[in-house]
Amino acid sequence: MRLHWHRRDLRLADNRGLSVPGTPPLGIFVFDENVLDHAAAPRVAFMLEALGALREAYRDRGSELLVCAGDPVDVLPEAAGETGAETVSWNRDYSGLARSRDARVWAALSEADLTPQAFHDAVCHEPGAITTNDGEPYAVYSYYWKKWRDRSKEVPYDVPPLAPSDDVGEPLPSIAELGFEPPTADVPVATPERARELLEGFLDAPVFDYGERRDYPADGCTSRLSPHLKFGTIGIRAVDRAVRRLRDSVAGEKRVSVETFRSQLAWREFYAQVLRFNPNVVTENYRAYENGIAWENDPELLSAWRRGETGYPIVDAGMRQLDAEAHMHNRVRMIVASFLTKDLLVDWRAGYDHFRAKLVDHDTANDNGGWQWAASTGTDAQPYFRIFNPMTQGERYDPDGEYIREFVPELRGISTETIHSWHELSANEREATAPAYPAPIVDHAARRERALAMFESARGDD
Ligand SMILES: Cc1cc2nc3c(=O)[nH]c(=O)nc-3n(C[C@H](O)[C@H](O)[C@H](O)COP(=O)(O)OP(=O)(O)OC[C@H]3O[C@@H](n4cnc5c(N)ncnc54)[C@H](O)[C@@H]3O)c2cc1C
Repeated sequence: MRLHWHRRDLRLADNRGLSVPGTPPLGIFVFDENVLDHAAAPRVAFMLEALGALREAYRDRGSELLVCAGDPVDVLPEAAGETGAETVSWNRDYSGLARSRDARVWAALSEADLTPQAFHDAVCHEPGAITTNDGEPYAVYSYYWKKWRDRSKEVPYDVPPLAPSDDVGEPLPSIAELGFEPPTADVPVATPERARELLEGFLDAPVFDYGERRDYPADGCTSRLSPHLKFGTIGIRAVDRAVRRLRDSVAGEKRVSVETFRSQLAWREFYAQVLRFNPNVVTENYRAYENGIAWENDPELLSAWRRGETGYPIVDAGMRQLDAEAHMHNRVRMIVASFLTKDLLVDWRAGYDHFRAKLVDHDTANDNGGWQWAASTGTDAQPYFRIFNPMTQGERYDPDGEYIREFVPELRGISTETIHSWHELSANEREATAPAYPAPIVDHAARRERALAMFESARGDD
């Protein structure tokens, strides 16, 4: 008998570790307090729904997903003893915390004369598989992407035979039993069926606009697959194969657009390898020479940013989308992250913590990669002197103000032109047009100069 320990692979199909030939597995999931300590309500809600669907899928095949709570170091050898399992398998996770936990679990299982087995599953190419010609992990995405793009990929794995079981595991806990309030945001449906529907719907048409329109938040032409990729309600090989098949069936602009989407999947794998080989990036700047940055960290400015009350419409729309949907469009994530670090001069770590508390797709590697990119402290980051202007970003990527109006009701009744020139209005004009919406909390031009001085001083350029 084998136990397969599900973690970020909440599915049966295209699951490498689950599908290894040999003894059919029984599933097990462990509610681990150390992991739950870093969780947030939207992700716990998503995970519980995904677990419910996974258990159903096991039962439909006459098998069972066991659930238990505690430290996997203790729980897994115990569960193996109770079920008569000799082997415990899992798919690897690449954060420092996960790797040290897995090393402890491996040792505990070996100590108990059980056989641990770990597989790579979450990405097409495991960290360390794509390296520079000197065997180093890549620090520049464009070189990584070229090799990633051309490297052959595995095809999806079929659902394997599962261990028959009449056991009925413990019921799944409620979100309250796990110590979380139900989320206030609308959390997306968390089943593998939904993930497949999203993928199919996206590949049916929106993907052909992706190359040109993915930066326009009102267009909705991105896949919304991120929470599914984070929790593994869909396998990456299944996504990759569907995308490659489509790419190979079209030509010209359509083909370019599909390939642009693939390149975003490669960013995810690029950041996974950055985290794997630099576990400190979770709390430290990737570039040590940025450690001297004297962030101002004004608590009132940070609080206004968190509430979506900065007086910069595109920033506030993004922060309110985050509250409403536990999601934010990628372009807007870049804008709000740039605004926090380079207009408000607040340390990226405060922004990362807020995203971690709110996002349904929070993923240590991607979130950290995104923040350090925007703050110019990361690998292959935005150069420090490239500072987004939040007004022109809003004007360019939400030209009709559609996205802004959706999330900032105070601005619904006013013209698009007024929305995009909000920072130029006098106090009287603002009072006369949208009295409930705040004045800009900082002056972008002045803050830009201060940010440049802050970065230059940290680098010793002054
Ligand atoms: C400050 C900041 C924080 C971010 N935090 C996260 C996070 O916690 N979790 C997360 O999955 N993504 C994060 N991203 C990347 C990106 O914003 C999201 O992956 C994307 O918005 C998810 O929507 P989608 O699935 O519709 O994306 P699509 O555009 O449809 O992309 C498809 C998939 O590719 C991957 N992807 C796309 N863009 C990126 C990127 N820039 N970096 C890494 N992977 C990418 C994701 O898995 C995504 O689901 C962050 C970006 C920034 C700038």
